[in-house]
Amino acid sequence: MTDQLQRFIFDDYQIRGEIVQAHNSFHEIIKNHDYTTEVNNVMGELLIATSLLTATLKFEGKIAVQLQGDGPLNLAVINANQDLQLRGTARVEGETAGLTFKQLVGKGHLMITITPDNGERYQGVIAIEKDSLSECLEDYFEQSEQLATRIILHAGSRDKTLAAGLLLQTLPAADENHEEDFHHVCALASTIKEDELYSLERDELLYRLYHQEKVRLFEAQQISFKCSCSKERCLTSLASITQQEILGLLQERGAIDMHCEYCASDYHFEIDDLKILLDDQHHTQH
Ligand SMILES: [Zn+2]
Repeated sequence: MTDQLQRFIFDDYQIRGEIVQAHNSFHEIIKNHDYTTEVNNVMGELLIATSLLTATLKFEGKIAVQLQGDGPLNLAVINANQDLQLRGTARVEGETAGLTFKQLVGKGHLMITITPDNGERYQGVIAIEKDSLSECLEDYFEQSEQLATRIILHAGSRDKTLAAGLLLQTLPAADENHEEDFHHVCALASTIKEDELYSLERDELLYRLYHQEKVRLFEAQQISFKCSCSKERCLTSLASITQQEILGLLQERGAIDMHCEYCASDYHFEIDDLKILLDDQHHTQH
């Protein structure tokens, strides 16, 4: 089982596709958190969804796919960059056992934020009205880009750390004949069993679904977990508060402890660790 995403295209239809399978990256995202099965599975689906969206980025940058609502799963977010390095976190308040996707998130929104390294930030928001994340994403593409999209997402049902998904989408320039083709390709995709999506090799999976079609596969892309937190980044964020405030915190608690919500790393700073920062501030202030 590898953590990979593969794009493909039909030679005879104006339709593109992606298959993604994740295991290690999913495990890394959930391992330091005490999520219930229900929250765990949403994180897995969100990880797959974010990978599917990231694979189409045509520039260097970041993407965040976020669920926000008034349900016990207040917030769930996966961040990724163009190299398919991902991290994620969830904020849970209250009981989540036995709840459906919609009950978990409650009344809320799906938010997709794309931040190019060079260029304007783009944010798309859609109300969560459907019963599953995949249907919400299909709505998103329909509304924001007028692209017929079929998304299949699975996570956690076979093994706690297995997640997989499939995306089919008409190309932006598709002519009016594409609807029938799209329907045909989606009907075949719906025959795939959850277990097959987790475990079959991607070319085998595509052959099983589309052996009567001409399908071209692009080179597979690796998916991995990566958290961008570091001691240096903590110091940078501490540099944004005043010297007096830092000294105040040190006096109050004896040390400053910072915690990464994504990977659960802890960073501990005592006065000696902050000397440079305090001196720097001292110099810049005078
Ligand atoms: Zn971290």
